Amino acid sequence: MQLQPVNVGHKALADYATIASRGLMDQIRALAEPLAGKRVLHLSATAFGGGVAEINYTLVPLMRDAGLETDWRIIHGQDEFFDVTKTIHNALQGAERSLTPEQQEVFRRYNRLNAEALEGEYDFVIVHDPQPAAVVEDARSVGQYWIWRCHIDLSEPNREVLDFLAPSIARHDAAVFHRRQYVPSGAPLPPAYIWPPAIDPLAPKNMALSAEDASYIVDQFGIDVERPLVTQVSRFDPWKDPIGVIDAWRLVRKRHPEVQLALVGSMAHDDPEGWDLYTRTIEAADGDPDIYILSNLNNVGSVEVNAFQVHSAAVVQKSVREGFGLTVTEALWKGRPVVAGRVGGIVDQVQDGETGFLVSSVEECADAISAILDDPERARLMARKGKEHVRANFLTPRLLRDWLALFNLLAGRETAESKQLLASAA
Ligand code: UDP
Repeated sequence: MQLQPVNVGHKALADYATIASRGLMDQIRALAEPLAGKRVLHLSATAFGGGVAEINYTLVPLMRDAGLETDWRIIHGQDEFFDVTKTIHNALQGAERSLTPEQQEVFRRYNRLNAEALEGEYDFVIVHDPQPAAVVEDARSVGQYWIWRCHIDLSEPNREVLDFLAPSIARHDAAVFHRRQYVPSGAPLPPAYIWPPAIDPLAPKNMALSAEDASYIVDQFGIDVERPLVTQVSRFDPWKDPIGVIDAWRLVRKRHPEVQLALVGSMAHDDPEGWDLYTRTIEAADGDPDIYILSNLNNVGSVEVNAFQVHSAAVVQKSVREGFGLTVTEALWKGRPVVAGRVGGIVDQVQDGETGFLVSSVEECADAISAILDDPERARLMARKGKEHVRANFLTPRLLRDWLALFNLLAGRETAESKQLLASAA
């Protein structure tokens, strides 16, 4: 059994030249040159749903276009494994529940099986998130340099679960985190580097869509395009608080009776908890005809997500924990007014009262949405500033540059960019 490869299609760096600065494109070219023909493998738990998949569909083809032979493979797992990895995910974000010895054994067994199934020879293996974090233990020889890319908030982890994973993480040559605050203290980790993720401005999810096209698309899902719409796009995950969004929307409706709500959430196959929360969210909506709960099951794909974001009067991301929050990046890039939880990477993206609203409760969330509906012009001006922040910091060419700088650094090649990475290392 070979691990399932993901077909990512083709993307050309040259297409990004008008979006990224000349300096950035030059950096990418210079950093890529000595890496020509190097082999890179991305390992992750799923090719569908959530931020990692979103990032890799762009990053992998662009690494290829930069001259690196890049593969992306999905580890094999069944529900018993994903139940355990979901517990690990929740525990690393601070949940109390730890792992039983049986769960630890399930985790080790699947990681070992995946390691045995891993073939090939790579210069760099990038392991995304905790699910495949122990593959390195039994497959070290497949890659010269192993890098653990963490996409979640590890600042207040459940210590037992972190201690269980730490020896495997320590087998990697480097770790990468979204934020300095996420690097856990006191764990024997490899050198840690910091950079945020990014969105692809040219992907169907984020490409320019006219207001007319957006309303044409959301109209087909039953939305009344003459009345304001509030949307949250996210997996059905307790940390994204979809039920809190419904509660906030109910408060908004007292002041703005015409407002509608869309909760758009895909079902990731490594997320068995999602179905449970999906059902509870539908119960919380209580058959209200102005609440639309949609998912990939209703054929909501990338273009549809784009349309919902573009069409919305306000985009909400009421997370109570958040690794980074690409949905916030996506909404800002579209110049939409954003209301988002004051947590994790969201606070690096939204300056409260300047480029959007940061909230910590249902009431604050409702107040912020109402403020946007009361004064859409002010909200639009704020959102426009937010877009510039995304342009400067959170688009894919910058992400590619950071990866190339790290590869050069690991291979012992000193460049201005790798020195910068070193200087910012945690
Ligand atoms: N997403 C989507 N459809 C959905 C839900 C989410 O396409 O129904 C995408 C969303 O647009 C974003 C990513 O999945 O690109 C979620 O990334 P984020 O960092 O917000 O959260 P994560 O799921 O990684 O915790």
